[in-house]
Amino acid sequence: MRRKLAAGNWKMNGLAASLKELAALAQAITADDQTGILICPPAPLLYRASEAAKGTGISIGAQDCHGDADGAYTGDISAAMIADTGATHVIVGHSERREAHHEDDAEVRGKARAAHACDLTAIICIGETEAEREAGNTLDILAGQLAGSCPDNATAANTVIAYEPIWAIGTGRVPTLEQIVEVHDHLRAKLIARFGDEGHAMRLLYGGSVKPDNAATIFKADNVDGALVGGASLKATDFAPIITALQ
Ligand code: PEP
Repeated sequence: MRRKLAAGNWKMNGLAASLKELAALAQAITADDQTGILICPPAPLLYRASEAAKGTGISIGAQDCHGDADGAYTGDISAAMIADTGATHVIVGHSERREAHHEDDAEVRGKARAAHACDLTAIICIGETEAEREAGNTLDILAGQLAGSCPDNATAANTVIAYEPIWAIGTGRVPTLEQIVEVHDHLRAKLIARFGDEGHAMRLLYGGSVKPDNAATIFKADNVDGALVGGASLKATDFAPIITALQ
């Protein structure tokens, strides 16, 4: 049985006062061993979030890391720095970074490797554009991104894959359950072909406009092991029902 994961990506939202949402979330949900809960706040909040989350069962993750261990990279953050805050996870290859920062699969793979070297779990994001879907290329595009972004040392313990169709992120549009099933089954087959049992055990999240009112439908798919949630993770009142739908 794969442990489920509800991961919240706060993106560039939140100040210290927002950390009250962690306590509110812990209060609003009934923790259960089968479901991990993760909040990825902006980097300046990582340490305080890790402290605030102690004893709540909520894990803390970053939204990006550099692929090198250290060096002259003004403004960047290394995986070791993230681990030093108490965080345990890091998102890599989010489509907003792939687009705005021109990150390609090789760079994302390097970031995942850097995360693993610091014992962080890497949440590797992949997703097709609307044009790619309309051209009928979704499965090939995703297989290519998965192959290129996942390092060879990926295991079920150190890697989570998040399928996030770019056209569904922040738009309120969601693929049909059939489309989600098709993609997740395809990704599972690719993971098993490459990683064997580890590929079977690796978590596959869906992300893109997950909300309290559509979460239960999305979670019906066998190979959906949880969600990466943006907007609806900012408030405990929105994120808690999504977690409950997963449990
Ligand atoms: C995301 O950015 O990872 C995301 C899924 O955003 P939203 O839930 O707001 O679509």
